[in-house]
Amino acid sequence: MKYISTRLDAPALSFEDVVLQGLATDGGLYVPDFLPRFDDKKLSQMKKMTYQELFFEVTECFIGDEIDRNTYREIIAKSYKNFSHEAIAPLKQLNQNEFLLELFHGPTLAFKDFALQFLGNLLEHFLTKRNENIVIVGATSGDTGSAAIQGCKACKHASIFILHPHNKVSEVQRKQMTSVIEDNVFNIAISGNFDDCQSMVKEMFKDQSFLNGKRMVAVNSINFARIMAQIVYYFYCSLRLGASKENAISFSVPTGNFGDIFAGYLARNMGLPINQLVVATNKNDILHRFISQNDYKLESLHHTLSPSMDIMVSSNFERLLFDLFGRDGEALSEQMNAWKTASGSIEEYRWQAARALFDSYSVNDERTCEVIKEVFDETEYLLDPHTAIGVEAARQCRRDRAIPMVTLATAHPVKFPEAIEKSGVDISPELPHHLSDLFGRKEKYDVIENNLASVHRKVAEHRRK
Ligand SMILES: *Cc1c(COP(=O)(O)O)cnc(C)c1O
Repeated sequence: MKYISTRLDAPALSFEDVVLQGLATDGGLYVPDFLPRFDDKKLSQMKKMTYQELFFEVTECFIGDEIDRNTYREIIAKSYKNFSHEAIAPLKQLNQNEFLLELFHGPTLAFKDFALQFLGNLLEHFLTKRNENIVIVGATSGDTGSAAIQGCKACKHASIFILHPHNKVSEVQRKQMTSVIEDNVFNIAISGNFDDCQSMVKEMFKDQSFLNGKRMVAVNSINFARIMAQIVYYFYCSLRLGASKENAISFSVPTGNFGDIFAGYLARNMGLPINQLVVATNKNDILHRFISQNDYKLESLHHTLSPSMDIMVSSNFERLLFDLFGRDGEALSEQMNAWKTASGSIEEYRWQAARALFDSYSVNDERTCEVIKEVFDETEYLLDPHTAIGVEAARQCRRDRAIPMVTLATAHPVKFPEAIEKSGVDISPELPHHLSDLFGRKEKYDVIENNLASVHRKVAEHRRK
């Protein structure tokens, strides 16, 4: 399998190079140059597979012959052995034809573990083979950082530096990062906000001279390996619900960076019978505005009760645009350049194509809390705020009640106590057993002033040589 850039002005790369590189040199994102397709017969054979077996079947084609089959099976097995539920991604029924796919049984209680546990093992495999050490740098408002640390801490060839805004992440989220005391993990609390952290990471990727030639790897969702891993649970869930050509399933996906929903879009293009794909956003609604009214204007960032979806620009959206532009990288490049000065819309017929693919809905904080309360009163099921947005979007956008609608439950409610408290439900969520000692664990992190030179110094000093 070859991977091509959405701007078509960078070399095509192998899977291994795509995993290690991140953004393409022309500023585009890498996508596979074709997709495998599964027919009904193949889908029905896949029904009995375990999560790990299915992972292998669904993703094998993306890897090609770059990893031998047995090694690849081992990487997959390792990636899902730290999940606390036998089913990996269990389904819960809320109501008639209304389901939740629980994606929070991984080590950090959010769906990002599905991709980052895998990415960590993948990196370790490639880096051992190449005998190369790398530096991983990332900024986090909570979920990505802890999932990246848990995924990569065992990777002996990587030093991991995660920047978070000092005193601005929840206690559970901070503890999940800072209680990892491996000597290749460095938590840096910046005296600033999340945007400060993110812009420092962007600067570091732009000018890597402070690393003296060491490779810097991105673990955010521009890394295609993350998207690929997320395709699997769409298959897993649909097959459990008996999906076939005559019985398609619908999904509602809380999203910000268009990563998770893009994985669903790929699953559909790979032959999985999906009826509706609902894009669920919080008040940062650029994706909803685009899908509902062809409005792709940047607005200022809103801080919400669902912080993992607080974004201004949706980094994976370009991967969809590439398809909407008929995979014409040149035309897309022109559009992206035009948007630098005047953001706005795309040609009507291209937008109509997007509208046929997705439904969308935006949910504000007030409504998010109401939904948490309503669903708890109806079912005694406690939603986290991101999932609540998904459930509300599903209910608002649903066209046919005879078709099962699955909302991706992206996080455990214990990670977001503020929203739970504001919703007025009468219980507080508890940490699952394997994390029950979290608050007593020792922490290790440095508080660093909000300036790039200090962060440079820290990284250069502590990275593996
Ligand atoms: C990251 C995250 C999301 C959004 O994921 P995208 O990659 O933007 O689709 C949703 N919910 C939770 C809990 C997250 O951590």
